[in-house]
Amino acid sequence: MTRQFELVERLKAYDPTADEGLLNRAYVFSMKVHGSQLRASGDPYFSHPIEVAGILTDMRMDCYSIVTALLHDTVEDTAATLEEIQSLFGPEIARLVDGVTKLTRLELQSEATKQAENFRKLVVAMSSDIRVLLIKLADRLHNMRTLHFIDDNTKRRRIARETMEIYVPLAERMGMQKLNDELEDLAFAELNPEMHESIKSRLRFLYQSSENTIETIINDLKRVAEEVGLECSVSGRLKSAYSIWCKMQNKNVTFEQLADIMAFRLVVNSVSECYQALGVIHSHYHVIPGRFKDYISTPKVNNYQSLHTGLIGPLNHRIEMQIRTKEMHQIAELGVAAHWQYKKGNLSPDGKQYTWLRGLLEILEQASGPEEFLEHTKLEMFQDQVFCFTPKGELISLPKGATPIDFAYAIHSDVGDRTVGAKINGRQMPLRTHLQNGDQVEIITVKNQCPSPTWERFVVTGKARARIRKFIRNQQRDQFSELGKSLLHKACIKEGLVYSEKVLAAVAQHFQYNLIDDLFAAVGEGIHTAKEVITIAFPERNKKESVSEKSVIEETNVEKSLIKPNKNNDPRKTAVSIKGLIPGMALHYAGCCHPLPGDNIIGVVTTGKGVTIHTSDCEGVTSTIDPERMLDLSWHDEMDEEIRHVGRLKLNFINKTGSLASLTTIISKHQSNIVNLKIINRTAEFWDLFIDVEVKDVEHLQNIKAALRSLPIITFVERI
Ligand code: MN
Repeated sequence: MTRQFELVERLKAYDPTADEGLLNRAYVFSMKVHGSQLRASGDPYFSHPIEVAGILTDMRMDCYSIVTALLHDTVEDTAATLEEIQSLFGPEIARLVDGVTKLTRLELQSEATKQAENFRKLVVAMSSDIRVLLIKLADRLHNMRTLHFIDDNTKRRRIARETMEIYVPLAERMGMQKLNDELEDLAFAELNPEMHESIKSRLRFLYQSSENTIETIINDLKRVAEEVGLECSVSGRLKSAYSIWCKMQNKNVTFEQLADIMAFRLVVNSVSECYQALGVIHSHYHVIPGRFKDYISTPKVNNYQSLHTGLIGPLNHRIEMQIRTKEMHQIAELGVAAHWQYKKGNLSPDGKQYTWLRGLLEILEQASGPEEFLEHTKLEMFQDQVFCFTPKGELISLPKGATPIDFAYAIHSDVGDRTVGAKINGRQMPLRTHLQNGDQVEIITVKNQCPSPTWERFVVTGKARARIRKFIRNQQRDQFSELGKSLLHKACIKEGLVYSEKVLAAVAQHFQYNLIDDLFAAVGEGIHTAKEVITIAFPERNKKESVSEKSVIEETNVEKSLIKPNKNNDPRKTAVSIKGLIPGMALHYAGCCHPLPGDNIIGVVTTGKGVTIHTSDCEGVTSTIDPERMLDLSWHDEMDEEIRHVGRLKLNFINKTGSLASLTTIISKHQSNIVNLKIINRTAEFWDLFIDVEVKDVEHLQNIKAALRSLPIITFVERI
């Protein structure tokens, strides 16, 4: 186990200004709270945080990272609290420890094997500080190194798979080649032990016989470079079992056929020396065609730089060759972790890096020292996303601000449609709640539930919005269509015409609707009036009407049982009902107040137009009207029950499934008909509309009004 003073020495070696006292206190605290806890290996648990800290000193991480490493499991695994950490070690350490703890909990929560890509994003998104991620990677590396101590086979495999799918790619993307290679090989050993063992033993055999070979080749390469005055260091190794296995897979060759299992690296002082070294080596050995790659002029997306080539090298061995500078080497090995050690040029972004890596580099260029660099290094990537879990551990990625409704639609459209509630982390929460990273969301559904139009106001995903809109559109269209159809039906009856969908289909075509239902919907919505449609549907009828109005009335009477023909301004039919009127005078009912039997009424005489009947309190009858032109009128005591008048209601209702239908049901239950309907204002939640109904008298209208008012969807209803 690494000792306290060793750790301090290693840190001090590259950071002489490090806070030794802080490190010592963390060491003692961690040892105390972990107490007698043991690892699966039988070692004291405390050895784990120390080893993780050790790994981070290898990466030359800052003092705070090392301290956090020592404390990283205290909150999750011991009685220590975050508050305690904060008061003992300050807010920054507390924040870092909290970050690592959250990632640990995330790991425990998810069996996210299928969701690797999303899970990786989540890990990054949750790492508010890149140091959190680096500490987590070091933690994982030590756990992988000690994986074989765990007895449970399933658990070992799960951890190995998670490492392969989540942490190896993260290390790779951050350019941390060394960490990447080691994690990969450890995971491979667990996941494919037979293959790993067979490659390993084969390599061991080769290594034994080639120990001298590697040494000889190194010396030969060094001699060649030094002959032209290049100062360099050369290293050589057998490739890792996992990388050999990948090659075997990709090229579909056996181990014996695989030629280059040795890799050599030549490290020089400058970029120009890299090309100089390449030149001299290429002129000295046989070059294997197609193997040369220049990652110096075109770095990899993770900022990796080197020259690669393949040679028939010394002793006629096929070898792989990498040539790079010291800086490039640091970056190749440590990736992001190396960036803050080097503040020098040739890291300039060429637009190919991941944006967040580019962000890191920009900060790197501006920051004056490594501390400031890390201070400003907040991971920007995925900041616009949240990642949540289903109860089964499936990961759902959503834009920031997403709600349980978005979540439900992300699972499946049908789930979204049937949503009635949501539990977030086990608690019932409002559907408009903004989801947070790592939330576990359970959607509660009911079979015949429909989307609510109000959802549209707070969902953020296009999928949810489109689906809700489509549903509302269809539903409204159905309602309008039904309404339009009944309006047309009634209009036909009223005009004494035989309702025929065949004829109406032609009208639909005339208006260029594909379906007759579209025509119905248009009538229901008030785009066309029923009268307009009928005029087009029955052109003959218009001629007839002009020839003989009588015949129309006669035809109409056929349907007398259903409804009496009643035109608002038909004087012949209603004159008899009003007392005080000069016989023969033309009579109209005012459109402003829609007077009904039972109302107090007055008449206003208009030259050439006859008498217009208003309610006595009608606002349309102003003081400007000459009193001489006003007539005191009243309704006859005995009204013809069958004569219908039009009353107008203004109402406001909640736009829900079946709202319109329940309106029309109430009205027809009261033996009334809707003759006209006009939408004044329409939002996702509420509709305002005028509705004209046929009634006997005021009382009839009052009854309808009262019945409507009792509907829960109605917020407001008044007679106009
Ligand atoms: Mn740990």
